[in-house]
Amino acid sequence: MAKKFVIFGNPVEHSMSPKMHNCAFIELGFDGVYYKYLLEDGAKLKEIFLSENLTGANVTVPHKEAAYKSCDELDDFAKKVGAVNTIVKKDNKLYGYNTDAPGFLKSIKKFENIKTILILGAGGTVQSTSDILRDAGYEITILNRSSNRLANFEKKGFKTFSHNNFKPSNYDLIVNMTSAGLSDNNLPAPKEILDKILPNSKAFIDIIYGKETPILKLAKEYNIPTLDGKEMLLQQGVLAFDYFTEHKFDLTIVESIMREALN
Ligand code: NDP
Repeated sequence: MAKKFVIFGNPVEHSMSPKMHNCAFIELGFDGVYYKYLLEDGAKLKEIFLSENLTGANVTVPHKEAAYKSCDELDDFAKKVGAVNTIVKKDNKLYGYNTDAPGFLKSIKKFENIKTILILGAGGTVQSTSDILRDAGYEITILNRSSNRLANFEKKGFKTFSHNNFKPSNYDLIVNMTSAGLSDNNLPAPKEILDKILPNSKAFIDIIYGKETPILKLAKEYNIPTLDGKEMLLQQGVLAFDYFTEHKFDLTIVESIMREALN
């Protein structure tokens, strides 16, 4: 019988994960099927995972913390960041992983000579990616709309600013990790700030995908090399597939199948 996988989220309709994973299952001859599951109550994740008889799942907004709480075992990195986006069932236990952060790290390798990074936002994704980026040798500054969420990052030794006290400097890479522009037309920071920093940067990434956000449009107007969130989506998906299929496949092949599926 085919192994079953889902993406849990709310909303989930827009997700491109089923397309990526189903194409890879078919092309690699793996007997699996992957579909969307609209999950309203994150507290029910484990119950539904078991009653649907799933082998694995991805988890998207807003259930990554609920997923973390639902797992019986967590890998060290998921434990450290407190968020799970990939779950695999083994011997009736749910194992939780986080492939968002290593996926993002892989996606920035597309650009060369990056040393300093300014991250816009201080939410869940920044929580999971900032440590891994710093451990990989990047110098990280975090700029968030409000100051509430910054204390935690300051404690960990990150340089942080809110819009009110920002002192611009030169950054090789600027990354939008806010949800500004996802379902509205907002910039993630005042335009006066962005006009000071974007022209001096070597690259810009928006981790939102499926639309051209106002800041992505602005970065393109400054002729900076850009990427949208599809690359991160792809890279986290390749790593999740590796867990789902117990490391049986060559990931460069998985990546090229999934890339084609996304395009
Ligand atoms: P959170 O809800 O945890 O954090 C949201 C952040 O955005 C906060 O820092 C918040 O600031 C800021 N923000 C929201 N609205 C605005 C605004 N109008 N102006 C300025 N700042 C704003 O979100 P996540 O970290 O879970 O997700 C962030 C984005 O990343 C989402 O758009 C999500 O879709 C995307 N994403 C993409 C992935 C991919 O694979 N491509 C993977 C994971 C996430 P404040 O603290 O002031 O409220």
